[in-house]
Amino acid sequence: GTGTATWVYDFSEGNKDQKDLLGGKGANLAEMTNLGLPVPPGFTITTDACRYYLEHGSTPPDLTDQVTEHLTALEKAMGKTLGDPSDPLLVSVRSGAAASMPGMMETVLNVGLNDESVRGLAAQSGSERFAWDSYRRLIQMFGKTVLDLDGELFEHALDEVKREQGTESDLDLDAGHLEDVVGRFKAIVREQCGRDFPQDPREQLDLAINAVFDSWNSDRAIIYRRRERIPSDAGTAVNVCSMVFGNLGMDSGTGVAFTRDPGSGEQGVYGDYLQNAQGEDVVAGIRNTVPLPELERIDEGAYGELLSIMSTLESHYRDLCDIEFTVERNKLWMLQTRVGKRTAGAAFRIATQLVDEGLIDMDEAVRRVSGEQLAQLMFPRFVSGGDATQLTQGMNASPGAAVGKAVFSSETAVQWADRGEKVVLVRRETNPDDLSGMIAAEGVLTSRGGKTSHAAVVARGMGKTCVCGAEELRVDTKNRHFTAPGGTVVEEGDVISIDGSTGKVWLGEVPVEAPAVVRYFEGEIDPDSAEADDLVRSVHRILAHADEVRRLDVRTNADTPEDTARARRFGAQGIGLCRTEHMFLGERRQMVEKLILAEDDEGKQTALDALAPLQKQDFLEIFEVMDGLPVTVRLLDPPLHEFLPDLTDLSVRVAVAEAEGHPDEANLRLLAAVRRMHEENPMLGLRGVRLGLVQPGLFAMQVRAIAEAASERKRAGGDPRPEIMIPLVGAVQELEAIREESEQVLAAVFEECGVELDVLIGTMIEVPRAALTAAEIARSAEFFSFGTNDLTQMTWGFSRDDVEAAFFHAYLDKGIFGVSPFEELDRPGVGRLVEVAVQEGRSARPELKLGVCGEHGGDPDSVHFFHEVGLDYVSCSPFRVPVARLEAGRAAL
Ligand code: ADP
Ligand code: MG
Ligand code: MG
Repeated sequence: GTGTATWVYDFSEGNKDQKDLLGGKGANLAEMTNLGLPVPPGFTITTDACRYYLEHGSTPPDLTDQVTEHLTALEKAMGKTLGDPSDPLLVSVRSGAAASMPGMMETVLNVGLNDESVRGLAAQSGSERFAWDSYRRLIQMFGKTVLDLDGELFEHALDEVKREQGTESDLDLDAGHLEDVVGRFKAIVREQCGRDFPQDPREQLDLAINAVFDSWNSDRAIIYRRRERIPSDAGTAVNVCSMVFGNLGMDSGTGVAFTRDPGSGEQGVYGDYLQNAQGEDVVAGIRNTVPLPELERIDEGAYGELLSIMSTLESHYRDLCDIEFTVERNKLWMLQTRVGKRTAGAAFRIATQLVDEGLIDMDEAVRRVSGEQLAQLMFPRFVSGGDATQLTQGMNASPGAAVGKAVFSSETAVQWADRGEKVVLVRRETNPDDLSGMIAAEGVLTSRGGKTSHAAVVARGMGKTCVCGAEELRVDTKNRHFTAPGGTVVEEGDVISIDGSTGKVWLGEVPVEAPAVVRYFEGEIDPDSAEADDLVRSVHRILAHADEVRRLDVRTNADTPEDTARARRFGAQGIGLCRTEHMFLGERRQMVEKLILAEDDEGKQTALDALAPLQKQDFLEIFEVMDGLPVTVRLLDPPLHEFLPDLTDLSVRVAVAEAEGHPDEANLRLLAAVRRMHEENPMLGLRGVRLGLVQPGLFAMQVRAIAEAASERKRAGGDPRPEIMIPLVGAVQELEAIREESEQVLAAVFEECGVELDVLIGTMIEVPRAALTAAEIARSAEFFSFGTNDLTQMTWGFSRDDVEAAFFHAYLDKGIFGVSPFEELDRPGVGRLVEVAVQEGRSARPELKLGVCGEHGGDPDSVHFFHEVGLDYVSCSPFRVPVARLEAGRAAL
């Protein structure tokens, strides 16, 4: 009637685009119904009704009437009434949310059976066995999902009857045995619930509907949603579907099918079939299924129709579909379809196959794959073969391939790694104390905990290979070994290999290789040659199209000629962040020490003069490799004391020397300097532009080195395009002072060398104040580069070096955020600052160049954000460059 909400839709009233309202299953049942495919009739209760129920604790008042209306129509269409004692209509009550959550929520089959209608069903079907089998299934599923009973109670009772009959197969139980099972099941319900199994069919239906609503908030559904980042308030729809029966005999059965191989993308007939079975039997592994092509032999008619429906669905959905179907006495029924999940490789292959088949265009192909999938194709992988033996398989918590000596404590991991050994950290489970060990190790293996355990979360955050929850391993950290099934003992120091993509663990070294996709990016495989397989060709075509449509440029973060060269091969259009601090490590550390310890200007200048030519050499090579493309050099950022020895270590050394009676003058002076420069919060201390302002000459030396290197390249006929970036600016005055100094140096060098070069001077936006005063800062900056790592750290007040190990896993568990803000840009908070700075910066200086150089530059969701707010480029590590190219293309579509 008017003014009231519609909570229920017939299958014939919906379509595939109404997933939010009808859930994925309901929307697709409707779509198949309207395609004229054989779907058992039924109706869908909307996700709105579920949200109402979750909010109010009761169903909407008019829901019952609407269900009655649709049920009556269904009964009319089927010529039967629900639970009729002589010829019952039976229905399934099936959950189905908008986002696929396979196996996470509940379904109850055969609703409408009771002590009387079971006999009617037997009479109508001519099979007593079938009727009692259906009834025992109803009580079992109802007991478990609606009455919340432990499923094992029923399984044990069923096993007991099988044992009494001396059989393991449910097929050997006859009608009498199954009637006996029903009796035992009803007794279980009575004992456990203090009430009888409900005999009223409508009561069964209503209770089952509410149970599906409740299942939205089951523990496993909540955990699954958190991991898959599905909103917790979306709710599920409920589908009420008339039953068809795969358990009516050997001319009946149930199965699953894929229109293509979800592993490789190849076209063909993939799936499994089980005769004389119902519902979940196929996936539950109660009996051995047969491969789908065998259905041709069992039931040629049903098989032929299934193949024709599969091809209809694939061209209709223009994608790989997966399907659930049932054959009832040689008649095929479709029970579910959806666009199927697939591996990363299959996603790329299928996308270009569909283009070649004329079903989609290249824009759509680019939309169909993701940067995450591309990243998966780029992880190093194990080459099969070799003489390593597989020990066990745990959970694939963080992809990659790691080989190293097993170590059982974080300390050993650090010690052994320091002396150049590759190690794999093996623990029962990890805790924040293991962080240093995890960093030092090639990979992490735990015997406990799932994909949201500390080890898994932290490893994924670090991009470190991790296999967790390898429960078959007995890890004995005290005695420094673990025992694998079969009794193999792996001692500390034995080499093991772990595969974070499959969860497999081997004893010995499994050889590792770069996958074909990486060799293609490296230029080692020509995509047009015979050496390139389908996958390489697909990746090549899709990236070429992404490059065509994207508006964002993609640069790289690189500070060595090797990384720069690789990034350029991977498609980088310049360097967005060339850090200079790494150039002061190794043997140059001592020169920095001299600079810090110098007691007068002359001493300082001598130290700087020694560093200058080395610094110039660094830039020469990088400018050469990036010839013709911009190279943004960031002046020194970290606090100087990072170049000095550790306070504790040094104190010990000094004390020991004194105790031995020969105090070391140099070390004493060093110790004094370390003490003087010690900071409680170095990340908020003397670093970046602040350092440049209080250490006169340091930035000037770096600018001179840049200018001299650029001049030399220019005179050699090159096309160097340096850009100078000042870190950690919070006030325009800081930038102005450094800019003035830098411009003088640049002018002097270019005059000396007789070259003309335009060098942009800009700043990082990484202190919130800089974002908020961007209009002022833009007066003095020719470009902004968002340093989103520091910007996130300072906006949230999270110390990046501490929080991830200390409490982020707890935050993730509690759902405070679904993903670390250091991984995926926090749009409402940090993103807001970026937007303000973009607007204000551009209004003050319309030609202002805008980029981002934090880790977020390679994160898919963040790339979309940077596209939306109108940046000119993103910059990321060399290996993320292809990912960013792809996502920038997807963002533009
Ligand atoms: P899931 O979302 O876990 O796949 P479903 O709602 O699809 O749950 O149902 C579970 C099983 O029961 C599936 O194998 C499905 O094909 C089967 N099933 C559901 N409804 C019916 C029905 N009306 N007739 C026969 N089998 C059904
Ligand atoms: Mg299903
Ligand atoms: Mg920074």
